[in-house]
Amino acid sequence: MADRTPLMAGNWKMNLDHHEAIALVQKLAWTLKDAKHDYASVEVVVVPPFTDLRSVQTLVDGDKLDIRYGAQDVSAHAAGARTGEISAAMLAKLGVSYAVVGHSERREYHGESDVLVGAKAKAALGAGITPIVCVGEGLDVRQAGEQVTYCLAQLDGVYAELSAEEAAKTVVAYEPVWAIGTGEVATPEDAQEVCQAVRARLAERYDQSVADAVRVLYGGSVKSSNVASIMAKEDVDGALVGGASLKAEEFAAIVRYQ
Ligand code: PEP
Repeated sequence: MADRTPLMAGNWKMNLDHHEAIALVQKLAWTLKDAKHDYASVEVVVVPPFTDLRSVQTLVDGDKLDIRYGAQDVSAHAAGARTGEISAAMLAKLGVSYAVVGHSERREYHGESDVLVGAKAKAALGAGITPIVCVGEGLDVRQAGEQVTYCLAQLDGVYAELSAEEAAKTVVAYEPVWAIGTGEVATPEDAQEVCQAVRARLAERYDQSVADAVRVLYGGSVKSSNVASIMAKEDVDGALVGGASLKAEEFAAIVRYQ
């Protein structure tokens, strides 16, 4: 297996105000400190709402924490008349390392297309932010056995305008929609099937060095009780965690899956 540092990212979604954000990050840092967590062996990322980012930045900088933080979305545009949007440059100024793009909730509730998600990924990369590109099939697609074809079509759409150099700097998250927030977790074999196919497609689109560099995460009802078996799969390099990232001890246990 290529040398990829596992990545555990906690997507808080629309939960926790800036006071609660500080409390959670502090508790997470203490819990991981008690466990003598080696951040170089498993990278830890929290993905709070935009309104919490400045507070998280202040805490992380002030306490010199190794926890990184990301945004849940980013504008595809640089600046100007885009009411309600946040640019990649603004996020970079706040020390944001990652931006989730194309989460299934954005695709479903905001009609985001692969082309738009690709433009967001490009904008993030332009500001030195790593996009976490989400792909994943709904239940109907899974029941038809079309999950690999579906996810690879999303991947092709998103990466259409990304160069090999840009693609190598991305992270992909395979998140089957039927497993998000449902308690219905994909089996490790289900996760491996699509994660492996994603990596193979990156090798095909670009080359093996790109495929080896990109971390492919699994997301969908990950908990401390199921993370180890999923992480044991060769092409799974981490997890994008929703609900279970809102509790410091539980998220720390996910980070400490080994
Ligand atoms: C998510 O929304 O990215 C997610 C994986 O949620 P959950 O872990 O709650 O299923």
